[in-house]
Amino acid sequence: MRLIILGPPGAGKGTQAQRLVEKHGLVQLSTGDMLRDAAAAGTPVGKQAKALMDQGSLVPDEVVINIISERLDEPDVRKGFVLDGFPRTLKQADALEGLLAEKGLPLDGVILLAVDDDALVERVGGRYTCAKCGEIYHDANKKPAVEGVCDVCGSHEFKRRADDNAETMRTRLHAFYKDTSPLVGYYYAKGRLRTVDGMATPEKVAAAIEDVMGELKG
Ligand code: AMP
Repeated sequence: MRLIILGPPGAGKGTQAQRLVEKHGLVQLSTGDMLRDAAAAGTPVGKQAKALMDQGSLVPDEVVINIISERLDEPDVRKGFVLDGFPRTLKQADALEGLLAEKGLPLDGVILLAVDDDALVERVGGRYTCAKCGEIYHDANKKPAVEGVCDVCGSHEFKRRADDNAETMRTRLHAFYKDTSPLVGYYYAKGRLRTVDGMATPEKVAAAIEDVMGELKG
């Protein structure tokens, strides 16, 4: 199955994408993760992206379109994928249509996670991940079962994103409403959009996504 998960920062895109990887063997295509990796590796693209990411602004379309185009050429994406954090602008969405048509990988659907803004700031503020396996945790909503030990891989190292703070969050939300929210209408008009209540527990959201996937298959 080939899906896009759409939603504002903190809506749960990454959490749900990780579940789809575990449950359905899909490949998670997160441009945010790819850009953070590039920034950590100190590549020219990474350096350019880092300053923009740290302030919560979008990275130029050309940069992310190139990254995703190259990634879509790797053989593992043939088993199905979930795009998380891409596309984020109408230009990216148009480019994606072209790329997927060219590569013979048509989309099955777009799932919108609908969440209240107040919850987003709270969710993003407390978010951290396992430095080794990437499992997502939260200071209030999802602590590891044993403090300081990752539930999944047992690592003792955790990290927080530089852009997960209240100040940057305002810029990121602004970018979402200005540049990304038009994609809701874009995919709705194409008959591809399915909306899921992102305010429910992660388990309930996952169940709703399963239902949507069942509909899309049927
Ligand atoms: P994310 O991990 O998806 O929240 O992305 C973190 C940051 O990476 C964003 O705030 C942007 O600065 C940048 N970024 C990730 N994906 C994109 C994209 N598709 N277009 C532009 N910038 C992006």
